[in-house]
Amino acid sequence: MNPSVIGVLAVQGAFREHIQILEGLGVRAVEVRKPEQLAELDGLIIPGGESTSMALIAERWGLVEPLRRWVHSGKPTWGTCAGMILLAEQAVGQKQGGQALLGGLDVTVNRNYFGRQIHSFEADLAVPALGDPPFRAVFIRAPAITETGERVEVLSEINSEEADDAVAVAVRSGSLLATAFHPELTADTRWHQLFIDMVEANQT
Ligand code: GLN
Repeated sequence: MNPSVIGVLAVQGAFREHIQILEGLGVRAVEVRKPEQLAELDGLIIPGGESTSMALIAERWGLVEPLRRWVHSGKPTWGTCAGMILLAEQAVGQKQGGQALLGGLDVTVNRNYFGRQIHSFEADLAVPALGDPPFRAVFIRAPAITETGERVEVLSEINSEEADDAVAVAVRSGSLLATAFHPELTADTRWHQLFIDMVEANQT
């Protein structure tokens, strides 16, 4: 098996932090700005930032259709925060006109779900898929997943003032992983390792 190459969409937002963590874990990581780069990748991270700007720039650079094809062809893709919004089949709370969603992940996201409560916060999340210690998650104007399709596995939930029940903040569905928070801003690399494992499992 060739060593994995993971791309990080580098049009806007927190892409450098993902690259550093991936390299720290011994994986080749590349900043992705051109459609033709997708062919060289085994996995792709769509980072946090601002989903409307990210979608507009991606559109201008001719990346939206190639990214859509990439995601829908079953290639391992992880969306964090704004990246999660772009992977969602449905989003509510979009700006006027909305942003071009890539889709593929059978969930409904609320774009600024926690933004209406508080700009940013940290929380200890129970994540059985990562093992015992809770994950200290950084939420920044964070979205939440308010509905999930049948095949979507909820990896972590959080209680919020706005919901009677807990809302999902991390899910996995086939080759897609999505987190509402920013794992690249903390020193705990377990989410990156989980994604690397998904990428490597897909290569064999
Ligand atoms: N809520 C933001 C958006 O709509 C995402 C924020 C983030 O990625 N930190 O794009």
